[in-house]
Parts: sequence; C-alpha cells; structure tokens
Amino acid sequence: MDTASKTEPALRLEALTHTFKQGPRELKVLDGASAEIFPGETVALLGPSGAGKSTLLHIAGLLEQPASGKVMIGGVDCGALDDKGRTRMRRQEIGFVYQFHHLLPEFSAAENVVLPQMILGRDRATAEARADDLLATFGLTERADHRPSQLSGGEQQRVAIARGVANNPALLLADEPTGNLDPHTGEKVFAELLDLVRNSAVGALIATHNMELASRMDRVIRLSEGKLVDETIVTAEISTD
Ligand code: ADP
Ligand code: MG
Repeated sequence: MDTASKTEPALRLEALTHTFKQGPRELKVLDGASAEIFPGETVALLGPSGAGKSTLLHIAGLLEQPASGKVMIGGVDCGALDDKGRTRMRRQEIGFVYQFHHLLPEFSAAENVVLPQMILGRDRATAEARADDLLATFGLTERADHRPSQLSGGEQQRVAIARGVANNPALLLADEPTGNLDPHTGEKVFAELLDLVRNSAVGALIATHNMELASRMDRVIRLSEGKLVDETIVTAEISTD
C-alpha cells in the first residue's frame, strides 16, 4: 500500500439502498445507509432481528450487489470491479466470521486456516506457520489436528475467527460471531476476537444484538429504517452481573 491509501477508510459505504421482493411486496431493507470504518477500528453494528444487518454485511463483503450506492474498500470503488476483481478483493482484503462457523468438516482445524491462504497463493509452509500462530493465540495448539466435530462450540468459533483473519484482511466483517455460543463462552470468544483485531490494522464491523459486547467496541452504529446512525451507549445503564 502506498502512503496515500493508508489514510483511506478500510470500508466506506455510500448511500446504499437494497430492496427484496417478497411475493407481491417490495421490502426496502437499506435506504441510504452510509458509514466509514477506519483501519484498526472496531465498530458494532446494532439493530433488531430483520433490520438488515446481514444484508448490509453481505453487500459490504461483495457477496451481493446493492440496488444503488457505493462500496469502497481501501479506497477502491468495488462497483467498478469485474467479477474477477470482486473475487480477488473478497479473498485478499475481506475476512468473514459468521454466527455458525461453516468450517470444512472433513479438514482439521489447522487445514481450515491453511486452505484459504493457499487459495490466495501463499505457499504451504508460510500458510502453516500463520495457522500455527493464530491457533496458538487462541490456545488451540493442542487441537490443531482435530476436525471441527471434535471441537467444542467455542473452539470451533475460534478456528472460524482464525480463518477469517488468516489472510491479513484490511476489513473484517462478522455477523453475530458469538451468537450461537452460551453467554459465558460467547463473552470469552468475543473478548479474544477484539484483542486479535486491536493488535492488527484490520477495520472490523461486527453485527451483534448484545449491547454489553457492543459497548466494548470503539464505536457503535445502528441500522434503523434502512439507515445507519451513530449511537452512544451509556455504559452506566448496563448491568455487569
Ligand atoms: P438481520 O440480519 O438484521 O436480522 P437481514 O438482513 O437478514 O436482517 O434481513 C432483513 C430483511 O430482509 C428481513 O425482513 C428478511 O426477511 C429480508 N430478507 C433477507 N434476505 C432476503 C432474501 N434473499 N429474499 C427476500 N427477503 C429477504
Ligand atoms: Mg442477521
């Protein structure tokens, strides 16, 4: 990256709109959603179920095209890319973590972290060293050769996070990444995710229902009536039992 691009937001969303056809009805899920996420920033994406958080993350992650508006990643206008360019951008610059881990069941934890790196052209030794490092960060060295089904839910999700950041993306998009875990494990895994993100230059946009978790991030934005609005969480009102 040249020096000019370092000051670019990791992600810039400009006036996104998106509509779904539901039978005879049209549902306007996004209606002028704009936001910027800077490198090294962790931003919570709040909004009730059905607000359009997943849709927004899919569009930001170039998995879906908006009806109108712009997605810029590291200063690049992704609307101007062809299919190949979008795929390259997605693999190189974006990491995803989902509520359900979507690990490859036939491969070990380590291989699940190695494979996406090799798809990008890293050699096996480099990819394995990176996977070892990441799994060690999560205390999973002893579990590296286990398949997903042999891991606990929290361990599976840690592997999914390791996979999400393995390619050193500029942007991490996470969709309720600990929503499938029990509250205690979810808390722990979430804290580890934030640590990992904060120790890197990645900009992270993380959808969550959990206000307490959201309050730990640098900034909170809420998806409301298709628009993104900044929100301040008053931490004094949050119970910390
Ligand atoms: P959230 O992640 O905030 O719960 P979603 O982005 O999943 O919200 O969904 C927003 C709205 O769009 C919901 O009403 C949902 O039913 C609708 N929706 C999502 N995906 C589709 C689709 N592929 N076709 C039709 N409607 C959809
Ligand atoms: Mg969702």
